[in-house]
Amino acid sequence: MNDLTQCVVTPKVKLDGFDSLGVGVHRASTIVFESAEAYATRGDRGDDGYTYGLYGTPTTRTLEAKITALEGGLRTFLVPSGQAACSLAILPLVKAGDKILIADTAYPPVRDFADRDLTKFGIEVEYYDPTSLSDLEARMDERTRIVWCESPGSTTMELQDIPAIAAIAHRSGALVGCDNTWATPLNFKPLEHGADIVAEALTKYFSGHSDVLMGSITVASEDLVGAIKATLGRYGIGVSPDDASMVLRGMETMGVRLKHASQAASVICDQFAQSRLVGSVLFPPRPECPGHHLWKRDFSGSSAVFSVIFTPEATPHVADALDVLNTFAIGASWGGTRSLMAPMPVKRFRTARPWAGADLVLRISIGLEALSDLQTDVAAFLTCIAQAAGTDRADDQNWVRLQQK
Ligand SMILES: *Cc1c(COP(=O)(O)O)cnc(C)c1O
Repeated sequence: MNDLTQCVVTPKVKLDGFDSLGVGVHRASTIVFESAEAYATRGDRGDDGYTYGLYGTPTTRTLEAKITALEGGLRTFLVPSGQAACSLAILPLVKAGDKILIADTAYPPVRDFADRDLTKFGIEVEYYDPTSLSDLEARMDERTRIVWCESPGSTTMELQDIPAIAAIAHRSGALVGCDNTWATPLNFKPLEHGADIVAEALTKYFSGHSDVLMGSITVASEDLVGAIKATLGRYGIGVSPDDASMVLRGMETMGVRLKHASQAASVICDQFAQSRLVGSVLFPPRPECPGHHLWKRDFSGSSAVFSVIFTPEATPHVADALDVLNTFAIGASWGGTRSLMAPMPVKRFRTARPWAGADLVLRISIGLEALSDLQTDVAAFLTCIAQAAGTDRADDQNWVRLQQK
């Protein structure tokens, strides 16, 4: 073999006797075939076969299989972000003249996709009150193709009765899709509660380190596989095996990360709830969270994302007080090792269930830092708000001093 050829031709590596615990990163656009016949009939390889890098590699298929098993589904598709998981769980299954009903509390970019793109394709978009089965029922008709859920809802954390919603939707022949990013399938399995499609932002707890974007779509029945697979192929959507391997690695520690962070989140929730500056703390394990009984009934645990609503006196000072934080970082997204706070507007994203409260809800994600450092940060944050609001309270100050000893 000439040197130039030697450089590009790699002999097949024998894997006999090599058995690692990590999943190999198989990079591919081209997949080669052993014969002209094998190439000509590559279309017969089925959903599990390999034909071209975009349509799957052993690395991406391994991650898909692991997610399928966790969700209790039939097949999973990987896409480049959680947002893509939501939009591409919907797009392949609707056509002009159909209607989609979307929970008013859905991840706001999903609303944007629906309002701008689905309507452009002639699909009617309507929002429903995620907490009212009668509101949903009243909006259902024979054109309704999908009922989209997210439980708990983005920022305001309302739980949805997925089994009851599925019963209503299925009676009219509609599908139920659910964004399960907050819970992860470790804490809630929408497909086992009647949903047909589940979307996850793997960007969050699955990958777990705030350094990779990916989403998954898992379906419960073979009927949905063809349409989604074909749409992803036509739009040219796939994920890098390097990114998939990072999600595979993150997923191995997801259970312990979730457990640790959710326990710390409960403690931090209590700290906020005890402050006079706080109106309510929205965290599904807390009884004051709307739909808490549904969380108790259907979920096996909690993640570590919650929201804080401040009193009208405190609210105007919340955003500026974020600057005193040392351990918490200010930023969107969540589910990583670092604790985050992000002030979120809500009013403009609520139409079916108008938001009566202040237009600043503080979303908090607890990470893996030492709990005492987070408590000290929260105490300083609350003190700063109290000072700005002129409701400075000695007990907040004492708390800071206590923690600093
Ligand atoms: C973050 C998030 C998404 C989007 O995930 P990206 O990977 O950031 O696009 C979708 N749904 C929910 C509920 C999310 O929190």
